[in-house]
Amino acid sequence: MDEFDLIATHFAPLAEGYPGAHGLADDTALITPPNGRTVIVSADTLVAGVHFFDGAAPEQIAQKALRVNLSDMAAAGATPFAYTLALSLGKANRDEDWIASFARGLKADQKEFGIHLIGGDTTSTPGPLSISLTIFGEAGENGVLGRRGGQAGDAIWVSGTIGDATLALLTAGGKVDADEQDQDYLNGRLINPTPRVQFGKDLPGVATAAIDISDGLAADLGHICRQSGLGAEVMLDRIPLSPSAAKLTDQYPEVLETIVTGGDDYELLFTAPVEKETVVMTAGKSTATAVTKIGVMVGSGPPKFLDAHGELVQFEQTGFRHL
Ligand code: ADP
Ligand code: MG
Repeated sequence: MDEFDLIATHFAPLAEGYPGAHGLADDTALITPPNGRTVIVSADTLVAGVHFFDGAAPEQIAQKALRVNLSDMAAAGATPFAYTLALSLGKANRDEDWIASFARGLKADQKEFGIHLIGGDTTSTPGPLSISLTIFGEAGENGVLGRRGGQAGDAIWVSGTIGDATLALLTAGGKVDADEQDQDYLNGRLINPTPRVQFGKDLPGVATAAIDISDGLAADLGHICRQSGLGAEVMLDRIPLSPSAAKLTDQYPEVLETIVTGGDDYELLFTAPVEKETVVMTAGKSTATAVTKIGVMVGSGPPKFLDAHGELVQFEQTGFRHL
């Protein structure tokens, strides 16, 4: 099969239902935003060996690529509707079975999240598999959220639980021991994150700033602080942990630093005025999303983390950086 047959067989069906994609048979695709609505765009690249294990199941790689992009839409409070896909296929990814499984993974998530593939590019590379996705979303009537906008006195909230993905890497590396069940749970959180798209849509007009946690709670809260011109205080014992992460933290107290500074959570971190607490809780309930208040926007400089006695805890790492 050549490149064109592959696209026609495996990718064109993913464009069905989006007329502007022209069945992936044209040089360009058309996006027609509803009257006056802003279109939000975000791009993310995943590279084998950097963002996922070389040799991971193609369905899982596909879904992780989509989900990290969906998570950016969730942070904006936007409704995603389309994406493009630029694939650089390594040697191991050039057979049709691999492509077919990859497309199956995309199809399942397209259905779950209501999005369509509208274009892309396919090349081969002597290097590792690389996947670049650009996703398009639509703003709701209350606009979109960004990293700036946090106000002094705002509460700091997170969705879900923090640290699971980074603990999966730590246990896989043999640095700490988890039983099989916990290991499976943590791996699942690493491989298959849950972008908080439905919950995120409720945040414009309620939250003042938002980001999704990809580089770690400390680093991503640092982004909100910098862009909002404020500092932050986080109570370490309020950070929500899954039962598996809590167990590991009891056994190895030092993993708390990993939880705070590791990444790949793809949970939402946002600030909201104190009087919006009930609205935030209601939004969480109506979308089956756990939400936890972990701190307050106050002072200036990088975020501070406090223990149960109100003592400042210093971490060596600040977060993941590629360069
Ligand atoms: P060009 O030579 O103009 O770059 P291509 O042959 O790369 O065109 O692509 C032909 C069509 O297939 C285009 O509509 C393009 O958007 C689509 N396409 C190519 N690769 C992919 C992909 N990985 N995912 C989705 N659409 C793709
Ligand atoms: Mg091309």
